[in-house]
Amino acid sequence: MFVADSVKDNQIVYVRPNGGRVLIPEDILASIFPYAQDSWNKPESGGVIMGRYIKDSEDIVVDKITLPMPGDKSTRFSFFRNRKSHQKIIDREWEASCFTCTYLGEWHTHPEPSPTPSFVDKNDWKRKMKQDVFDSDYLFFMIVGTSEIRLWEGNKYVNSFTTLNKV
Ligand SMILES: [Zn+2]
Repeated sequence: MFVADSVKDNQIVYVRPNGGRVLIPEDILASIFPYAQDSWNKPESGGVIMGRYIKDSEDIVVDKITLPMPGDKSTRFSFFRNRKSHQKIIDREWEASCFTCTYLGEWHTHPEPSPTPSFVDKNDWKRKMKQDVFDSDYLFFMIVGTSEIRLWEGNKYVNSFTTLNKV
């Protein structure tokens, strides 16, 4: 099964531990699908996730992601983002959206059907929870597998991750 086949109604909605929802809309999914490692020669890819916290709710909409770009380092089993070039896009989107489109976390791909974070991923996520500058108490980490996209929510205070289920 290709990853696109796991998506109903052209979008994915995840449920947060606090009852809020995270919406990944169609255009974002469409830009991610080509990077799924569904053939042997596709390298690992990744980028950052940006979006909005919806007022008076715990809901979040992903509005923008960055895609691999020059300066990133990528192999079949690793991906290193060029900090500067991705940060430039974050800053630009933040201003262009009148300061609503904010950094939410990051995504990367795995060459496995239903992806799980590696030891390296978990350490990396913990480091980001400590070091990255972000407004809310949460960061989101997406792994794009070959037949499923999974999402984890990191909580700044307990420095742990919850797997989010789809609606
Ligand atoms: Zn990984």
